[in-house]
Amino acid sequence: MPTFVYMTSCDGCGHCVDICPSDIMHIDPVTRRAVNIEPNFCWECYSCVKACPQNAIDVRGYADFAPMGHSVRCLREEEKGTISWKLKFRDGRVKDFVSPIRTTPWGSIKAVTEYSAPSDAAFDSQELAHEPEYLKIEGGLPTYSGKFKEGVV
Ligand code: SF4
Ligand code: SF4
Repeated sequence: MPTFVYMTSCDGCGHCVDICPSDIMHIDPVTRRAVNIEPNFCWECYSCVKACPQNAIDVRGYADFAPMGHSVRCLREEEKGTISWKLKFRDGRVKDFVSPIRTTPWGSIKAVTEYSAPSDAAFDSQELAHEPEYLKIEGGLPTYSGKFKEGVV
């Protein structure tokens, strides 16, 4: 579901341009307002929607998501720690969804640089770096204890 900009709400701040991983949010040189120049290349990540301080970016939902004529608004409220989605159907019905921005406290996730560098032996391990500690699984990851049958993949 690609995005588009309500030009009358946009103030041209450029946050969506800075954050778009597909580099398709541009500031129109004439209107000085943001525009999604290539919706077909939209990753549908909604980073721009969540970053827009004017709530000026909407999502163009596919017909299998909601019947044509609906609108989808997304609002990221950092002070409340929530992301809300408002889906308005063309018959006037409204559905609201509120999700936490994250489920762990701010600042509680260690940066990669805070972990020690992997040892040489780690390169021969099936586990990813800092597993199982990072996954908080005590006693190690589960291993396959069954036997493979010959000829069965
Ligand atoms: Fe760019 Fe993602 Fe917004 Fe699409 S949803 S325009 S890829 S930031
Ligand atoms: Fe416009 Fe919002 Fe993009 Fe800023 S982040 S340029 S207000 S659409």
